[in-house]
Amino acid sequence: MKIVRFIDQQGHERLGRDPDAGTAELLEGDLFGDLRGLGERVAIQRLLAPLSPRNIFGIGLNYREHALLMGLQVPERPVVFMKPTSTVIGPHDPITLPRVAAQAPEVDYEGELAVVIGRTARDVAPARALAHVLGYTAANDVTARQWARASRTRGKGFDSFCPLGPVLITADEIPNPQRLSLATRLNGVRVQHGNTADMIFSVAELVSYLSQDTTLLPGTVILTGTPPGSAVTRTPPVYLSDGDQIDVELEEVGVLSNPVRAAAERVQAVA
Ligand code: MG
Repeated sequence: MKIVRFIDQQGHERLGRDPDAGTAELLEGDLFGDLRGLGERVAIQRLLAPLSPRNIFGIGLNYREHALLMGLQVPERPVVFMKPTSTVIGPHDPITLPRVAAQAPEVDYEGELAVVIGRTARDVAPARALAHVLGYTAANDVTARQWARASRTRGKGFDSFCPLGPVLITADEIPNPQRLSLATRLNGVRVQHGNTADMIFSVAELVSYLSQDTTLLPGTVILTGTPPGSAVTRTPPVYLSDGDQIDVELEEVGVLSNPVRAAAERVQAVA
């Protein structure tokens, strides 16, 4: 099932499935419990991120070639960081370039497979881990490189730095998440291309690792790392700028497309 969250023409937030030609079949119930199709299709006024995450974990350097291009060693265990949930935006919402990055405009894209936990996971073995996954969506782990060098939380934590969508495809339709092609396009030009088969740590291993002595609540999102081609690894680097369009295409999920905008108004900087 392909699930969308959206605003309908009456301005209400809805869950639907099988979006097509600007409509979706309404779903009733809880994303993490029982969902029933109502048999009624309604118009999608505006797509939202497919869920409002409880927590967002990110995994760094999970593709060998990306790690090497970054000039870093291939990690022996997952490199874990967190992104604030306030970073989440939906398909077609603008990625806003932070004012505080204006002096070092190194805002980068990272197209990624995002895993959505559906059942509480704690101390699960890799062999059981996928049973806790509700489904998958695409993510752009937007990163202000200059800030991320000092702190990943800061550099990856600005508002609008976590586009998610356009759909959440349920795990029953993706029995093996390690065979999905992933591509990122900047203004229509492909800049990243990879396959989840090339992950250093698989989805099952990541869920298991993160669940060690740690409760992964339903609605937890895990960004699984990015394949080669982020701007920082290119010569010359072409970072995001006002007016750009950045698309992340994940097999089975579709295209997560976002415009890039400069921040609209100057705020008082905190010294
Ligand atoms: Mg990333």
